[in-house]
Amino acid sequence: MAQWNPWHGCHKISEGCRHCYVYRIDSRHGRDSSQVSLTRDYDLPVRRRRDGRYKIPSGETVYTCFSSDFLLSDADPWRPEAWAMMRRRSDLHFLFITKRIERLAALLPPDWGEGYSHVTLCCTVENQERADYRLPFYLAVPLARRIIVCEPLLGPIDLSPYLSSAIDEVIAGGESGPDARPCHYEWVLDLRRQCVEAGVAFSFKQTGANFYKAGRHYAVPRPLQHAQARRAGIDFSPRGAAPMPGQPSLFG
Ligand code: SF4
Repeated sequence: MAQWNPWHGCHKISEGCRHCYVYRIDSRHGRDSSQVSLTRDYDLPVRRRRDGRYKIPSGETVYTCFSSDFLLSDADPWRPEAWAMMRRRSDLHFLFITKRIERLAALLPPDWGEGYSHVTLCCTVENQERADYRLPFYLAVPLARRIIVCEPLLGPIDLSPYLSSAIDEVIAGGESGPDARPCHYEWVLDLRRQCVEAGVAFSFKQTGANFYKAGRHYAVPRPLQHAQARRAGIDFSPRGAAPMPGQPSLFG
């Protein structure tokens, strides 16, 4: 697994951004996250070692633009080169997540076709309002793969109008950090039910820090949030549910 942050900084645009980890981490270092700039790693995918091999070896998944949003307007002048580097490294798998999916259609490279097969572009929706706004754009753009990320999940969401064979997976998770908003297990289970009914894969990624199950509150420490979600054993694949780990947890 590799990470490529070609530019750094972003602007908050919706409720899901309120406790953005980029802002949180930058504030610890006195850095202004709203100042968007290219990083020293902007050309990392095409950089080579002294022996001529690429620094990122073939076959890696590259988590892209995790300290910004790939579709941010500030990055419009830099994005064509980023697309070109992705095109050149078709031996890698690039994955990025956006809250600005409405901009994508106008920003695609000319040879995009039905979507680069080695690029996964995930769309975040944190509540019903953002789902109803963003998902029609997401479904309208040609993509090789579509993943809806409901994280931080801030309320119940009815995704059923958007779930079809065009969606490969839904990922749900709560919010982390000191001021994390609550995540209710009932919301997570309801998303899972919708996915099962539509035959779409589902993954419960993390509980978040303030988790409610059956009316009871759990303050879940950061290192346990992913593990507790895994132990719920509710991930679903249309080809068969993932096996339950069966360790003791707040899911009994
Ligand atoms: S879009 Fe993402 S990176 Fe940008 S402010 Fe919102 S949460 Fe942070």
